[in-house]
Amino acid sequence: MSARRFMIHSRTVCDGSASFDGEIYKHMIRVLRLGTGDAVQLADENGIEYSGEISEVTKVGVTVKITSSRLAAKKVSNGPRITICQALPKGDKIDLILQKGTELGAHDFLLFEGCRSIVKLRDDQQASKLERWKRITAEAARQCGRPDIPEVVWRKGAIEAACEAGHKFRLILWEGEKEYFLKDVLPDGEILSSVIVAIGPEGGFEPQELRHFIQHGFLPVSLGSRILRTETASIAILSIIQYMSGEM
Ligand code: SAH
Repeated sequence: MSARRFMIHSRTVCDGSASFDGEIYKHMIRVLRLGTGDAVQLADENGIEYSGEISEVTKVGVTVKITSSRLAAKKVSNGPRITICQALPKGDKIDLILQKGTELGAHDFLLFEGCRSIVKLRDDQQASKLERWKRITAEAARQCGRPDIPEVVWRKGAIEAACEAGHKFRLILWEGEKEYFLKDVLPDGEILSSVIVAIGPEGGFEPQELRHFIQHGFLPVSLGSRILRTETASIAILSIIQYMSGEM
């Protein structure tokens, strides 16, 4: 049987070994029941693949001794580059958005504090929150067999989020839009290869936030007459774009 493959972060590799606790440890040792001497393959976010063998297992961690590594040919994905530009929702809804979004192939997540976001993130909370969010995307990528881990970045507010450049197509999901439905504006072909979609928090966007996005080239679009929860909107738009671009 060929060695099992695990997605890891490059920071776990040090001096010829890679050490893990948490989810990877649980998966390797408790779920798959691997043990000392078993061969494993590791792949990090930079496209480096490592071959190695489990050298130590403790009650909380596992160490893999790396025997060889190589830069894997970057997997060429023809799929679209979809950025989910999401205003922070309350509670753990963001966890769901990150997890499902990773499974559905979001390229990256740009999170920001919407004027109506109920949860406010203090400056001193940002680093630990970002770390937690990155753990969620890393775990979801591993679980769904995705070779890359979507990036998660934080922007202070809509103004900063709207400035994000480099996408060919920009949408803002707005339940107040009466003229344009998604079906009217979604192009096909090349332009759909790079899309950013802004989604509001539970209370929706403030008019001035909508204006900022429009001024930065975002097109307001409706997903229909029903008001979707913010997490539903995010999951729906990703599924539709993936389908439209032939990725499903
Ligand atoms: N302002 C609304 C609800 C906002 S829903 C209210 O309080 O009644 C949260 C977010 O999901 C919105 O900001 C929007 O980005 C998206 N959304 C939900 N339903 C939508 C729809 N039918 N069309 C477009 N976007 C929608």
